[in-house]
Amino acid sequence: MMQLRSYQSLPLGAKIRRSEMVIRQALEHWEDNMYVAFSGGKDSSVMLDLVWSINPNITAVFSDTGNELDSIREHVASYGDRVVWVKPKMTFWEVVDKHGWPVISKKMSDYINRCRKTKSDAVIKRHKFGLNSDGSPSPMSKIPDKWWKFVDGSIDVTNKCCGILKNDPTAEYRRQTGRFAFVGTMAGESRAREISYLNHGGCNAFDQKDPCSRPIMFWTEQDVLQYHIDKKLPMAKAYGEIKSRRGKLYCTDCQRTGCKFCLFGVHLEDGENRIQYLSRVEPESWEEFVRHGGNNVMEELGADWKPYQKPDIQQDMFDEEYEEPV
Ligand code: SF4
Repeated sequence: MMQLRSYQSLPLGAKIRRSEMVIRQALEHWEDNMYVAFSGGKDSSVMLDLVWSINPNITAVFSDTGNELDSIREHVASYGDRVVWVKPKMTFWEVVDKHGWPVISKKMSDYINRCRKTKSDAVIKRHKFGLNSDGSPSPMSKIPDKWWKFVDGSIDVTNKCCGILKNDPTAEYRRQTGRFAFVGTMAGESRAREISYLNHGGCNAFDQKDPCSRPIMFWTEQDVLQYHIDKKLPMAKAYGEIKSRRGKLYCTDCQRTGCKFCLFGVHLEDGENRIQYLSRVEPESWEEFVRHGGNNVMEELGADWKPYQKPDIQQDMFDEEYEEPV
């Protein structure tokens, strides 16, 4: 942990040199038999730039779930045939029709789905009260009371969506090519990623079940944004511009560019949530979402789905301190 923290506090120039070293080690370990898992997002664009600065012949692979924002797809398309597009066997709407909606979190969707399908009182009890199968307490297994309406209601939910739309197509690519992935994840994004960094050999996870290299694992979002500025690296339009406020860089528009219809975590978003954002930038996609009943799911989640109305209050006092675009 101490080592991760010390890497995270390095200046950007030192981080770039360290990432380059990680990339060289991985390429040597797998004898260049690698590809870049490219999502079209800003982190992934940085990683791609770093890998290509070492070996421009490494293929980038984009998993085209059909659920990305148009501007992400445009950004990926701008790399031309240097990026290979792989597709899932089902569309997002086919996943929803067959398995249900991805809601709340992967783990909670799994628990709810189990409770909806089981005939076993023991399974229900386990998730109602948060118990292990031997009856000992397991608070993490509990479905909070507010989400029991999904167990009892008519909306199907699933934790299978990522597997079908994202993991299966890239696993198939790996199987066909025998290549190993460069992945642009960062330990600071979640506790799970931090644990993965600590338990699987740091950046080069040669020993995990699906071995891969994660050259920017010790970077922060600030590093990614600074790299974009320094290298004049293009970003998807969805992000808007990079600006600075009180010495901190930020994107003026979309803060997350994952799957546009995904409802994992949407109930936690403050201000304009991802579905409301969609109504502004891709009204046709938003209408499609409503046509498929996504508005009903949003209501069950207690999240707004109608276009966002800015609160009618005086502008944030800090707005006046916005600096010019950097
Ligand atoms: S991020 Fe959400 S919508 Fe996208 S593949 Fe995973 S579960 Fe499905």
